[in-house]
Amino acid sequence: MRLVLLGPPGAGKGTQARALGALWGVPQVASGDLLRAVVREDSELGREAASYMDRGQLVPDDLVLKLVAARLRKDDARPGFILDGFPRNVTQAEALAKGLEHFNLKLDKVVAVIVPDEEIVKRISGRRTCRNCAAMYHVLFEPPAKAGVCDKCGGELYQREDDAEETVRERLKVFAEATRPLLDHYDRLGLLGQVDGVGRTDEVEKRIIAAVNGVAPPPK
Ligand code: ADP
Ligand code: ADP
Ligand code: ZN
Repeated sequence: MRLVLLGPPGAGKGTQARALGALWGVPQVASGDLLRAVVREDSELGREAASYMDRGQLVPDDLVLKLVAARLRKDDARPGFILDGFPRNVTQAEALAKGLEHFNLKLDKVVAVIVPDEEIVKRISGRRTCRNCAAMYHVLFEPPAKAGVCDKCGGELYQREDDAEETVRERLKVFAEATRPLLDHYDRLGLLGQVDGVGRTDEVEKRIIAAVNGVAPPPK
């Protein structure tokens, strides 16, 4: 399974990519997680990446492409992958297609997770992430058993700095300008499926699976 999850920040891409990756035995490849790992290294490159991320802007394509390509070349991605947060513009989508083509591979499907802006703001403002294993929580919708502590590994939960309201508004703008054109791009290629991202996470997961299988989603 080679799947791309498309959608605005906070749509639930990471949550779904993790669940589906576990179900299908393929890794979640999240460009944001790869970038945050570089930022943690505290290198010149990391500082440059952070200067874009802190403003809610896209990090330059060459760095992102290098990170994702290196990740997709790892052994565990041989049976497939779920891309989350990448590609985010047409240049990245074309580079991905070319890179896959080189290995005689192609994407099986691109699923766009549709969530209205007002719901996104609620989701992002309550989002908490594990510092240790990157598991995702929400203070209201998906609370951990113990506040501030990861259920899976006991790690500390934190709020991402770029989840501040003003930065979120900028990220939504960047999504509309740079990333939304990918819906048309993948639709023209016959790869696009669209699902309603509002509802319980297990319901959204079922809709994505149905879209991947090309069948109508089960009734709500
Ligand atoms: P979210 O899950 O909320 O959509 P991400 O973790 O995917 O956020 O991304 C956080 C930030 O990392 C983005 O605002 C952007 O600065 C940077 N980033 C992540 N993926 C990409 C990408 N494919 N291209 C450019 N920048 C990216
Ligand atoms: P993305 O990777 O698209 O930025 P996340 O998976 O990080 O999105 O989800 C954003 C926030 O919304 C997280 O706090 C997550 O726990 C919460 N969330 C994810 N899916 C749902 C859902 N179906 N209903 C309510 N909250 C959700
Ligand atoms: Zn954890």
